Amino acid sequence: MHLSIYAQNKPISNLQINELGKIPIITYHKIGDTDTEYSRSREGFRSDLIYFIENKFHFLSLQEFTSGNIQAPKGSIPILMTFDDSSVSQFEMDKNGKINPNSGIGIIESLKKKYPTFRPKGVFFVTPGAKNPNDLFGQKESKKAKLEYLIANGYDIENHTLWHANLKKYSSKIEEQIVKCEQFVQEYLPNHKMSSLALPFGIYPPEAERHRLMKGNFKGVSYKNSNIFDYSNRLSYVPYHKEYDSLHIRRIHANESGIKRMIVELNKPGIAFVSDGDPSTITIPKTSLGFLQEKGLNKKVLSY
Ligand SMILES: [Zn+2]
Repeated sequence: MHLSIYAQNKPISNLQINELGKIPIITYHKIGDTDTEYSRSREGFRSDLIYFIENKFHFLSLQEFTSGNIQAPKGSIPILMTFDDSSVSQFEMDKNGKINPNSGIGIIESLKKKYPTFRPKGVFFVTPGAKNPNDLFGQKESKKAKLEYLIANGYDIENHTLWHANLKKYSSKIEEQIVKCEQFVQEYLPNHKMSSLALPFGIYPPEAERHRLMKGNFKGVSYKNSNIFDYSNRLSYVPYHKEYDSLHIRRIHANESGIKRMIVELNKPGIAFVSDGDPSTITIPKTSLGFLQEKGLNKKVLSY
């Protein structure tokens, strides 16, 4: 087991309530045999999830995160889990629709049985036109069943471009890459709309072209991305923090060393978002009052 990487950290408990603290948004790529930069071993992935479950992390959906309307139990840390590149390692099925227990979703399913309160959510940023096995989870015959499973089980399916294009190099293709990704998914889920883009390689197009990530159209088909996720390997601000930028939402590499560093960071006092358990209030230290973005907040602010 890889739990040893966490052993030096005390369990996260009794951290002070702080609803302007930072939120981890973690990004898995391949779920594989070994731990490398872009692969998390199955055993490591399982250990990560067990750590989050046992330390009262609260899994968010995309909308729960981006709205800032976070309803997590008292003392818990919200987390947004994301999966990039739609490889078959994340989600594999046999021809009868049975989920492979060694794929990412299979590992999650086995933990749902073991921990009845585990309520996994997450965002799949997909590349349907990439080469197999990254073409919407490989396995042509089960693409529809997989996408339907993800939606039925509370996951989000969002844009990572058609074939993982570097949008700086291919800035002439921004609209095409975004629209064709969504259209590909709509072949299987006709009413599916995307609202978020994770940049391939975390690379932005030149400054003057960035508005095209958010809004545009290709051959008459329009799109709107309200959230652009980067890859800056830092914890994210909460959406009602003054420094939050919906066009540069920070994500952390969920490889072995990235997860380890993140847990060390979250264990430090005053870093993590820790919920007060009451969705109608925002509880923060007095010293953080100046970081609160006031507009659009329909909550009572309590400071200590
Ligand atoms: Zn990617």
